[in-house]
Amino acid sequence: MGKKNKKKNNDAGEPGAAEQNLSVRDLLRVGPDFQLSAVDPRRIVAGPADKAEARAAAAALEGEVTEWQERLFAESKGGGQRRLLIVLQGMDTSGKGGAAKAIDRISEPIGLRMRSFGPPTREEKRRHFLWRINRALPPVGSIGIFDRSHYEDVLIVRVRNLVPEDIWSGRYDEINDWEKKLTDGGLVFLKCMLHISKEEQQQRLLDRLADPTKHWKYNPGDVDERQLWDQYQEAYQVALTRCSTDYAPWYVIPADRKWHRDWLLSNLVAETLREMNPQYPPTDFDVEVEKARVENS
Ligand code: AMP
Ligand code: MG
Repeated sequence: MGKKNKKKNNDAGEPGAAEQNLSVRDLLRVGPDFQLSAVDPRRIVAGPADKAEARAAAAALEGEVTEWQERLFAESKGGGQRRLLIVLQGMDTSGKGGAAKAIDRISEPIGLRMRSFGPPTREEKRRHFLWRINRALPPVGSIGIFDRSHYEDVLIVRVRNLVPEDIWSGRYDEINDWEKKLTDGGLVFLKCMLHISKEEQQQRLLDRLADPTKHWKYNPGDVDERQLWDQYQEAYQVALTRCSTDYAPWYVIPADRKWHRDWLLSNLVAETLREMNPQYPPTDFDVEVEKARVENS
């Protein structure tokens, strides 16, 4: 396992990831000079530029990912403290649900914990904003997926002024400290922003309206948030740059093409697990002795 990039060129005629020997994480990681407005949501970053090929390449990661998953779980049975938390953020219709399905397709449902976060309940509002997040963390040895997260507390909360500025402005440091503590305790963050264009969002909203079987996905409130597009982009810009740390970096996934989004995300997951490299715990019995006991039983 673990050959990094064996994928082909992107369609821009630039050297592909393979030639530069870059991982998908290297290509998508948010660094200090990051500008969200400079990321083209339609860009093919690396890998197959063809939908069917990309789907097949992502599906081909299933065997590897499920083995890592089993190892991660086994490691925890031997006392290991590690776990993986995949955080999905993005504007409405950016495909957080579809992205979660893509992860589900390459992993075993057992050991995969999905949680989504809507507006806080009355009880949650009375607590610290990280309270409900802490309760939703995946257990050691497993993989968690957050559909939205504590980042909403510096996104919609900031854009909509849901709490005073002196409160939300302190949350970036709070989030970094909290993520550091969890990382030190063995939790690995994979924070992904699904980046769509304003035009693509409009198309997806219209698609939902055009198809009665998609009406359940349509939320009239999304149009109100859409009117604040620029403020949201600015809030994302700040959150991505202030909270992309060496211990919990952000990755921005161009997400206008669903099949490319899924290919990128699947590779981010595989690369992250490869680096975690979870290990089966050492055997704590004498195999020969046990074999004899079983045979004689
Ligand atoms: P959806 O993901 O479509 O189910 O929508 C969930 C809604 O809940 C989105 O509009 C989020 O912005 C909103 N939301 C999530 N977390 C918070 C939060 N901490 N405070 C306020 N609104 C939130
Ligand atoms: Mg929604």
